[in-house]
Amino acid sequence: MHFLAGSVEGGDGAPFSALDPIGGAELQPVYREASKDQVDRACVAAAAAADPFAATPPATRAALLRDIADGLQGLGDALVERVQAETALPAARVEGERARTIMQLNQFADLVEDGSWVDARIDHADPDRQPMPKPDLRRMHLPLGPVAVFGASNFPLAYSVAGGDTAPALAAGCPVIVKGHPAHPGTSEMVGGVIQAAVAKNGLPAGTFSLLHGRLHETGEALVSHEAVKAVGFTGSHGGGRALCDIAAARREPIPVFAEMGSANPVVVLPNALRQRGAAVAAQLAASALLAQGQFCTSPGMVVWLDGEGSEAFSATLREQLTGAAPGPAVHPSIRQGYERAMAELTTLPVELSAAADRAVNSSDVCPALLQATPQAFLQNARLRTEIYGPAVLAVVCEDAAQLQQVLAALDGHLTATVHGDGADFVEHAAAVAALRSRAGRLIANGVPTGVEVSSAMVHGGPYPAASDARFSAVGVTSILRWVRPACWQDWPQDQLPVELQDDNPRGISRLVNGEPG
Ligand code: NAP
Repeated sequence: MHFLAGSVEGGDGAPFSALDPIGGAELQPVYREASKDQVDRACVAAAAAADPFAATPPATRAALLRDIADGLQGLGDALVERVQAETALPAARVEGERARTIMQLNQFADLVEDGSWVDARIDHADPDRQPMPKPDLRRMHLPLGPVAVFGASNFPLAYSVAGGDTAPALAAGCPVIVKGHPAHPGTSEMVGGVIQAAVAKNGLPAGTFSLLHGRLHETGEALVSHEAVKAVGFTGSHGGGRALCDIAAARREPIPVFAEMGSANPVVVLPNALRQRGAAVAAQLAASALLAQGQFCTSPGMVVWLDGEGSEAFSATLREQLTGAAPGPAVHPSIRQGYERAMAELTTLPVELSAAADRAVNSSDVCPALLQATPQAFLQNARLRTEIYGPAVLAVVCEDAAQLQQVLAALDGHLTATVHGDGADFVEHAAAVAALRSRAGRLIANGVPTGVEVSSAMVHGGPYPAASDARFSAVGVTSILRWVRPACWQDWPQDQLPVELQDDNPRGISRLVNGEPG
């Protein structure tokens, strides 16, 4: 069922079902594609809710977020079981993702209550200033208005209906319309029901939240094209994110799309680390690349090193660990098909493929692989420089530092980059580190990129094409900044100002007054 601004609706759109990732059988119940009319009504209701929802006291929005968090927990094992049925993810992983989603919601509740996130700045008037008097200026963040959210298939909770786009949008005071991912409509429906109940419980306008199901691109496109929608949050493939960016940019009123897309998360192993602990680094890298069959946006899909002492051991261990690993299920059949297409495409390029393809593999499984390309092939074939979504790692061995530099200079933007270095490595290869710094959102030393801490210092984003706007993070409380705009009041009557900007600071929030904390 769709949750449409407080009501629960079916409809007569084309039917579709989630598919069991193992075996491909259709799961019950049947969902209906949202109609153009349903998209329109959800957007119109969101527009009507925008001002009243933006004006709600912070305590109300905090209560909404905490009620959603409690509601998710209250769904208990039934939620975990439905996620597993729709994604084949192990129970422990689903429980961990649920805990993270609940933590995110509670973090945003705390943020809203604290209030300082509005970044209030007050510059007092100076009527005696020469040659012109200075006006009284006060600014803070205001919500953008209705936000359309598209979640990814590989994070059915943390990047879906109540995930990392929805939580900060509701915290900021933006109504949310979710276009549910068609791979997990049952999970989406359970979570959507919790949000709708929390909206009603807190007496909020019905248009504060809608969830529409659909598997046709037209449904998502209609949502992004609707004039009531003022921003879009997207997590998923580069093709999907880019399509929505283009639609949003071509509207009469262009709107921002904060798209977090694919990333190959390059890893560079510098000479001392290669020599001293190459095999251990290779094993650590392989374990990270194999997590959840490589279905993490931060999965390390590319490794580059300089030929030299330790190179053979590194290469042999990486091959052994990847090709010796058991295949496992993709979260849905189209991810597996996409992986198989990518592997077929890559084998038409000058790469050496090592995969245990001769092992019996279930039809739902993806098979780990190591691909090796020369630096020349890497530089000449753009496809080798983009994400392979699944448990594959591309290895590039460079002859010298100059070639390493050429390879790194050819990289596009990525969510993360990892450097393994010991002793003088970081100093001697400062140019390589600088090349990575300018191409990645998060730099990691001597670790793995998987495992994204939900923390205020986190950056989950990066230069295009990893994200559509490198200035923002999709993880951590700073992600709220995507859904707000700065607004200024000049010489405004004191009692008509938002409380955050009044002289006596009734909420006691952190502010800058004439450039000083106050
Ligand atoms: P996806 O196929 O792009 O789907 C994401 C959502 O966008 C779905 O609702 C999908 O609906 C919709 N969509 C896709 N293309 C569209 C188009 N052209 N027009 C309108 N709507 C469109 O991605 P996925 O399979 O769920 O996730 C896998 C990808 O996500 C990987 O590349 C992975 O790296 C990336 N990812 C990135 C992050 C991050 O934070 N950067 C996190 C997780 C995953 P339809 O199914 O109807 O097309």
